[in-house]
Amino acid sequence: MIWDRWRKGLERTREALGARLRGVGRGAQREEVLDAVEEALLTADCGLTVAGGVRRALERRAPDDMPQAFQEAMLRIAGPAEPLRWAEEGPTVWVLVGVNGAGKTTTVGKLAMMAKGLGRSVVIAAADTYRAAATDQVAVWAERAGAEIVRGAERQDPASVAFQAIERAKAKGAGLVLVDTAGRLHNRQGLLDELGKLVRATGRALYGAPHEVLLVVDGATGQNAVAQAQGFMGAAPLTGVCVTKLDGAAKGGSLLAVREALSLPVKLVGLGEGIEDLVAFSPEEYVQAIAPNWAEIGSGS
Ligand code: GDP
Repeated sequence: MIWDRWRKGLERTREALGARLRGVGRGAQREEVLDAVEEALLTADCGLTVAGGVRRALERRAPDDMPQAFQEAMLRIAGPAEPLRWAEEGPTVWVLVGVNGAGKTTTVGKLAMMAKGLGRSVVIAAADTYRAAATDQVAVWAERAGAEIVRGAERQDPASVAFQAIERAKAKGAGLVLVDTAGRLHNRQGLLDELGKLVRATGRALYGAPHEVLLVVDGATGQNAVAQAQGFMGAAPLTGVCVTKLDGAAKGGSLLAVREALSLPVKLVGLGEGIEDLVAFSPEEYVQAIAPNWAEIGSGS
């Protein structure tokens, strides 16, 4: 059940929020409750803008409306769900970018599995030609997901690996090409330029590609995720974000910080290390999974 994954993955965040609010107790003054909500959101790494925004939304509402107002404010920030984009015909190409360790390779594996479940055959472009170990890691995931892998030679231009993978997908009629790129720092211009080149190469290999350029960010890095996203935005035309490791810490609010800071939809969420622990982002399920149990909390008089 996907809902169970949401609840389990965001358990620590929900508990952290609830613990701070329960500390307030019944009969507390309204200001006290509002302070606690704001602090709780900061603890969960929502960032100052989001925490302040939710507080202001609650201030305008009657105390009894608090749970409802909280839900609405959080949903507004989380933004509408936007599905991943598929090509109308021919192969679909999704490129995954991000800093080292963000979870790109793992996400490529999970996406390959997801696509397999949809009956689409997958070609993975192992475009990280800097580290042989990275390619080996993708190969393990590819095998589990029954995907074909196109590897580059050491130091081969990553753009040409992506190009080859798309050619291969066209030749065999595959449904999806996943391009796993090398991790790079968001402030290293040379590497960012290389990424721009790779994205353009996919468009030359296939008209309309890429259909997604997904920035993978580690949700546990909180505010740093925002800086990363801003760096990458200049290098490639990002179409969405995948926030990973929301299960890792009580920092599940970082998703909102990223969403608020960038005008990019969150499309995917990583809720664990397993191959099935990737879910399409659903604002409703996300907000419900972290919402504290208001019945235990004083709503302020
Ligand atoms: P890459 O360098 O961006 O390709 O990152 P990797 O895919 O190698 O992932 C780095 C580490 O993060 C690995 O240990 C993964 O198992 C772990 N990881 C990736 N996604 C998730 C997630 O959603 N939850 C958790 N808990 N760990 C994850």
